Amino acid sequence: KLHNELQELKGNIRVYCRIRPFLPGQREKQSTIEYVGENGELIIVNPAKQGKESRRSFKFNKVYSQAATQAEVFSDTQPLIQSVLDGYNVCIFAYGQTGSGKTYTMTGPDKASEDEWGVNYRALNNLFQTSQNREHAFSYEISVQMVEIYNEQVRDLLSSDTSQKRLGILSGSQPNGLAVPDATMYPVKATSDVLHLMDVGLKNRAKGSTALNERSSRSHSILSIHARGVDQKTRSSMQSSLHLVDLAGSERVDRSEVTGDRLKEAQHINKSLSALGDVISALAQKSPHIPYRNSKLTQVLQGSLGGNAKTLMFVQLNPEVNSYSETLSTLKFAERAS
Ligand code: ADP
Ligand code: MG
Repeated sequence: KLHNELQELKGNIRVYCRIRPFLPGQREKQSTIEYVGENGELIIVNPAKQGKESRRSFKFNKVYSQAATQAEVFSDTQPLIQSVLDGYNVCIFAYGQTGSGKTYTMTGPDKASEDEWGVNYRALNNLFQTSQNREHAFSYEISVQMVEIYNEQVRDLLSSDTSQKRLGILSGSQPNGLAVPDATMYPVKATSDVLHLMDVGLKNRAKGSTALNERSSRSHSILSIHARGVDQKTRSSMQSSLHLVDLAGSERVDRSEVTGDRLKEAQHINKSLSALGDVISALAQKSPHIPYRNSKLTQVLQGSLGGNAKTLMFVQLNPEVNSYSETLSTLKFAERAS
């Protein structure tokens, strides 16, 4: 109960931290993670330093150890998904450096088995199930859009039109929840529809880049799920949206080492992630002014950030020693939200 009240005070923002396991071939003995507490406490250690200043502790709503399964993570996410069908707008992000497990958490590994499905598929499954359970009282229609924000331009990932025109954003909160009205919208009825669409989206995301991983780590992808429910008795209706966001990698690039397109990309990523951080931290502090206008990312998500909306940020960490400074800056970003 106290926990819930605390969350109310924080403007409905939750932060869950997830630590990626060591991958085969990585040196397991050396880790920056010293302690993961059941109460959301995390202690990291800088192996290059000695004594007291080598340790730092953080506190989030939850911290998952390397052993956490996709199902465990989703069981803590599910209440938020559920509230979408009660009329709440919800935004779920994965933040972290490239290789820290953002895509794993949101979507799953490549060619995932059902056990390995990430939040995306599980969320849609859950929405389908709940809407079936409520069939006698409500009829729900669920549809999805998928866009990518790359270099401050919004692109449709579900369009068959390969010219990939840039899409406009409506400012402010839209009554129908559609900030990007021209992005292709597909009605979905079952998980198989979703699997197919996500496949199309991922293929489109790779277009125009040499390797999928390259491009996907430098753009934000947003899967938007829109639910419309009609009360069978009163015929009154409600509309809400769930945005599932796989953010661009948060790593700092060395300005002395990149130029041209790569520098431009880095500057756009930097700008939009700090705009997101500013919005979340303004919301957490209940500031009267929320600076949505500073990036395309925060403009697209405006209707689902703040107000009654619920926000969850997955903060993803790579436990390797050579990631220490990125880990620290990721945790500092997350601290502003909590
Ligand atoms: P990001 O999207 O942040 O760049 P990925 O999700 O692609 O990172 O993860 C990097 C690698 O680590 C991938 O091979 C992924 O399958 C693996 N991985 C990440 N998180 C986990 C996890 N919790 N369990 C198993 N493998 C994981
Ligand atoms: Mg990724």
